[in-house]
Amino acid sequence: MTKTPAYAALSATTPLTHFSIDRREPGPHDVKIEILYCGVCHSDLHTARSEWAGTKYPCVPGHEIVGRVIAVGAQVTKVKVGDRAGVGCMVDSCGECESCKAGLEQYCYPGNVGTYNGHDRHSGGHTFGGYSGSITVTEHFVLTIPDALPLDAAAPLLCAGITLYSPLKHWGAGPGKRVGIIGLGGLGHMGVKLARAMGAQVVMITTSPEKAADAQKLGAHEVILSTDKAQMKAAEKTLDLLMNTVSAAHDYNAYQRLLRVDGAQVLLGVPPTDMPPPAVGRMIGNRLTLAASTIGGIAETQEMLEFCAAHGIVSDIETIRMDQINDAYERMLKGDVKYRFVIDMATLQAA
Ligand code: NAP
Ligand code: ZN
Repeated sequence: MTKTPAYAALSATTPLTHFSIDRREPGPHDVKIEILYCGVCHSDLHTARSEWAGTKYPCVPGHEIVGRVIAVGAQVTKVKVGDRAGVGCMVDSCGECESCKAGLEQYCYPGNVGTYNGHDRHSGGHTFGGYSGSITVTEHFVLTIPDALPLDAAAPLLCAGITLYSPLKHWGAGPGKRVGIIGLGGLGHMGVKLARAMGAQVVMITTSPEKAADAQKLGAHEVILSTDKAQMKAAEKTLDLLMNTVSAAHDYNAYQRLLRVDGAQVLLGVPPTDMPPPAVGRMIGNRLTLAASTIGGIAETQEMLEFCAAHGIVSDIETIRMDQINDAYERMLKGDVKYRFVIDMATLQAA
């Protein structure tokens, strides 16, 4: 074990602060990565503040991790020392169930091991995420970052990017499809870029009038202000697919009205409090699907990184110092981020 500096929440109600964690030395199949940048996902905030049940403290968030390989175990073939590498939302899974065998580790039957707040099969404790100096991960869960992608702006691809890429692909976003992205935050801005690159007609659906111009710059063909009843009425039955990235409880049924017959809304946000039940009548009357999805498998995440490299897609980021994280959480809650915070981990020691 090596003592490693980190930033942790010690309780649900106290700000994140300096902390020291133990990282294991690489076993035969392990890769040790020096963390250079870590994106800030809304899930970090939900978890640090125990907005979802079950946060274990100390909690070291961060699952949009990029850096350089600094050590590898004897059996490792995927990467070598010095390579650019990334880690997303999972660091382990059973490897044996139907999902794992199909490359759908995120849907591992016994459950994947989250990069933070998961059950660490090595230490017996819980996992610590990317707000730290380094991480040791079994090689299967290590991604390689294509040279064409800048490391800092590539970090958010590892959660926000794959969380949109996987369902967009699964539900057939592409030419001839009108795809609505609900919520222009970290996930939503990646959704706009990816759906556009897949060839779909992209419609941004936002509660924030001031984000309309940005949405178009990011690639949206059209923008709907969801708080404007007339705009929502005019858009009824015009979309094939909806990606709902909203982080707070809300009535997603209002968006079902935008779907054509056979349309699907995919819930991606994980609000901390209950949402209303589905309006089944409208779904039956229009053969609608209400679905949900989480991240993507490891092979698909690598495919997404190559897709982004080929299409020149990265996240729009604001780089912060480690000691700005508590303020960044407050700004994220206000929607004051364009469109993903990324921590420069070189600032961890000084923080
Ligand atoms: P974010 O950057 O804070 O963006 C969330 C966006 O939701 C906001 O920018 C805002 O967009 C919209 N919004 C917020 N409150 C709203 C409300 N009451 N009604 C309507 N819209 C509202 O968050 P994020 O990092 O993109 O994460 C979004 C959610 O996805 C979080 O719950 C996170 O935990 C979850 N998540 C899920 C997965 C998965 O695997 N499924 C992966 C990562 C994250 P506008 O201002 O444009 O309206
Ligand atoms: Zn995330």
